[in-house]
Amino acid sequence: MSQELSGFTAVVTGGASGIGAAIAAKLQGLGAQLAVLDLNPQDLPEGQLGFACDVSDDASVKAAIDGTVAAFGGVDIVVNNAGIGAIGSVEDNDDAEWARVWNINVVGMVRVSRAALPHLRQSSGAAIVNICSIAATAGLPQRALYSATKGAVLSLTQAMAADHLREGVRVNCVNPGTADTPWVGRLLSQADDPAAERAALNARQPHGRLVTAEEVAGAVAYLASPLSGSTTGTSIAVDGGMQALRLRPV
Ligand code: NAD
Repeated sequence: MSQELSGFTAVVTGGASGIGAAIAAKLQGLGAQLAVLDLNPQDLPEGQLGFACDVSDDASVKAAIDGTVAAFGGVDIVVNNAGIGAIGSVEDNDDAEWARVWNINVVGMVRVSRAALPHLRQSSGAAIVNICSIAATAGLPQRALYSATKGAVLSLTQAMAADHLREGVRVNCVNPGTADTPWVGRLLSQADDPAAERAALNARQPHGRLVTAEEVAGAVAYLASPLSGSTTGTSIAVDGGMQALRLRPV
């Protein structure tokens, strides 16, 4: 891949940090014009257009998509990456917490897609890539709410692929394993011995280390580009083989 995305405009939610930032950099490197929708769109790399946007707020999402179209003339690629974690069993998170996390992790993707679809239909190479997780199918302990949101992202991806197939809009998802991002850094920093906890986390991965954000971005770039023109409704695991080996990251 060199300039596969030249002439394309990509929207990346949660693109100011971690996996989203790596995706934005990768798509930009492949020639796309970049709009980053994030709660905190500061300090973006040169050439990326930031929008202060909360994917849990419809007006904020509409304004950011309108702003992207005004700046770049359309939208060809949407990467629904913004998401947050939640720890605990069903007894640990109340209705308000379920609504809050669901509203970001699931409905956030619906909202951004809904706002972008009229523009995606105008594109000759439209693609939506949703960032899911191995949590969607792994049966992780103490991750009931988070896992349920990612299970919903998986089925949403398949349903959207069916709905928009004949409109020329492909919809796929990427399922990362535990990836080395600020999110995981925040979790590790709460441990008594963060360095030992990081070493133990690395050791639990089938290939002996965390996934990198750039590796996730590589899979996204493939699914976002015409190279995957006949691929829709599917998912790519970027997890060092964890799903294939039926292992769990925690
Ligand atoms: P991160 O916390 O490093 O970055 C998330 C970004 O999303 C931040 O820039 C944040 O400001 C933004 N964001 C959060 N809520 C938002 C909202 N309501 N509206 C707009 N932007 C918002 O996280 P990350 O580790 O890069 O995770 C990104 C995605 O990857 C998430 O969907 C997560 O579920 C998924 N994922 C992460 C891992 C992992 O191990 N890091 C594994 C599997 C899946």
